[in-house]
Amino acid sequence: MSFGARIRIRLGALQHNFSLLKDAAGGARICAVIKANAFGHGLLAVVRGLPETDSFAVARLSEARMLRDNGIEKPVVLLAGVMSADDLQVALQLDCELVVHDRPQLELLEASGPGAATVWLKVDTGMHRLGIDPSDASSYLARLRACRAVREVRLMSHLANADNTADPMTTRQLQSFNRVTADFAGDISVANSAAILGWREACGLTSADTSRIWVRPGIALYGISPFPKRRGADLGLRPVMQFESHLIAVKPVRKGDAVGYGGTWKAHHDTIIGIVSAGYGDGYPRFLPSGTPILVNGRRVPLVGIVSMDMLAVDLGPGAPDQPADTVILWGDELPAEEVAACAGTIAYQLICGVTHRETSEIIPA
Ligand SMILES: *Cc1c(COP(=O)(O)O)cnc(C)c1O
Repeated sequence: MSFGARIRIRLGALQHNFSLLKDAAGGARICAVIKANAFGHGLLAVVRGLPETDSFAVARLSEARMLRDNGIEKPVVLLAGVMSADDLQVALQLDCELVVHDRPQLELLEASGPGAATVWLKVDTGMHRLGIDPSDASSYLARLRACRAVREVRLMSHLANADNTADPMTTRQLQSFNRVTADFAGDISVANSAAILGWREACGLTSADTSRIWVRPGIALYGISPFPKRRGADLGLRPVMQFESHLIAVKPVRKGDAVGYGGTWKAHHDTIIGIVSAGYGDGYPRFLPSGTPILVNGRRVPLVGIVSMDMLAVDLGPGAPDQPADTVILWGDELPAEEVAACAGTIAYQLICGVTHRETSEIIPA
């Protein structure tokens, strides 16, 4: 048995979160966002754990290829589209749905031979990342419809601040999107996890007919809250990833002893230090500070000192009963990734995407 860091992926939790989001989406179709190796969970495990999704969304052509190479036949959306004629041909061969967010991408399609692509025209309603100006939408739609490579055109946009349910920016973005889609008969998509859970009505998910709406949940599928002040469990979600390892050493230190590189943490009293087989090489970030909670034998203890590449230290406390080989949970059930992320002023998205799977991860079926 290996005592190194590993992740457990609970497909039962994934299915639970999917059902919760499907209910919240009120009949809209689901495009499961699985970019960045399914937010660090492992692309194929997650894909196989989502048999009921209507489509998948990825950021890279290589991810789309991996799905097709593994026999996945569902629609796959390439969220940023393609940048070259060569990539366009590959994407068409892989039968990807393409995002078009600027003029060069439109021109690549116009220059392409015949095909049967579904194209998502992305409109920038205020995030100012990707997307065309809303006032250009009708000319883009007409030109896309005239392309031999295009079979169907749809409209999408992305929300910048939906995680703040009081932010008027989202209302402005949705109004802009509604104007663009008002006299458009095709499929449309705007909602990410935060919008599905926090802006249902504004996104049309409570309306009688949601048949042309697609939603694009990412983070919530993995059981993590998209809202900064709430945890997944507050929303009824269950964490899919458990990141865990083991103690590999337990040792007493005296008051005043420094622990780890740079000696940034010193014992305030005689205590027992546990050394955990997990470090930034596994994706436990070096920027997590002393005091970050870690679960040892179900007990919360603080990280102490600087995280090393393969190891980190915790203060087990005077008289601690813990032994080498005991289990350590870095985040998961009982210790939400949201809470760990907050210790370093970041978001759980960054933590879960960063795990490196140095050890074979374990996939727990539903
Ligand atoms: C990442 C992404 C999503 C999913 O966002 P979550 O906040 O993880 O739900 C949806 N749409 C686009 C365009 C994205 O890039």
